[in-house]
Amino acid sequence: MAERLPELVLTARLASTDVTIISNGSGSLEDYGILVDLGVSVFEIPFHHSVASVHDRLTRTPGSAGKARISLEYLVGRNACVIAVIVLTRQNADDVETTMRSLAGMGVRRVMLNRFNLGGEGFDHMGELTLLPDELGQAYQTANDFAIELGLRVTANVSTPWCIIDPLDYPSLHITSCADRIELMPITVTGLGDVRICNYSPVILGNIYQQNLDTILNQVSVKDFFETIPHICTDCVRYLRCLGGCKAVSQQSGIPLCDHDPVKSAFPTYLSAE
Ligand code: SF4
Repeated sequence: MAERLPELVLTARLASTDVTIISNGSGSLEDYGILVDLGVSVFEIPFHHSVASVHDRLTRTPGSAGKARISLEYLVGRNACVIAVIVLTRQNADDVETTMRSLAGMGVRRVMLNRFNLGGEGFDHMGELTLLPDELGQAYQTANDFAIELGLRVTANVSTPWCIIDPLDYPSLHITSCADRIELMPITVTGLGDVRICNYSPVILGNIYQQNLDTILNQVSVKDFFETIPHICTDCVRYLRCLGGCKAVSQQSGIPLCDHDPVKSAFPTYLSAE
């Protein structure tokens, strides 16, 4: 655990602010216990497959599946609010029902079912990881079919263009779009003070040790982020709810915001402004 993390959590909790810890699940149970005692609101722990070797292959960390399972079971036992995170890839999407059943059997009640989003080294492994729209739709359909039976609240938090995945087709899932204003973004500040619009965007907007946060967040590039409509979406009646997918992945890809979410470039036949 990072040296000052408990102190930061305590400071936030004393200000009545909720705290979510996103962990790879390999922390010590003692550390998780401290965070539970401090009143952490939510823990997000990855659990990509019920077969340990598949999870370990995806995390590229031998032993990570076993640790994640132990951490999940410990946190459930402590009555903490736990969200198991499944990143859907071509390696695990076929088995999403089995993975959900494993989680339900462990007492987990909330699952975040995110599509693999392009970025970083992921660009080198697109073929092995990125699901075709039909495959992604099938995985969400399976999750939709079993979520209620298994007593799982399933959310999908990586925004996906609605012409690829329409949330209305999956009524038992909670599929979110990106935010349309800065106040609702998961603004990210690193330990060195660099500010980004969200944890997925690679663009550093400024540094809190050099500028006022209001100045950083009110600059023109932030305004552009929200006001730029991708060309393909300009006539689409779904834009106000879809917002064109994930603009941060456009930044990851080095393309302008007026271009569309690169996930659609791979699947041009699915592009459909209505
Ligand atoms: S065309 Fe754009 S706004 Fe319309 S559904 Fe596709 S991504 Fe969303």
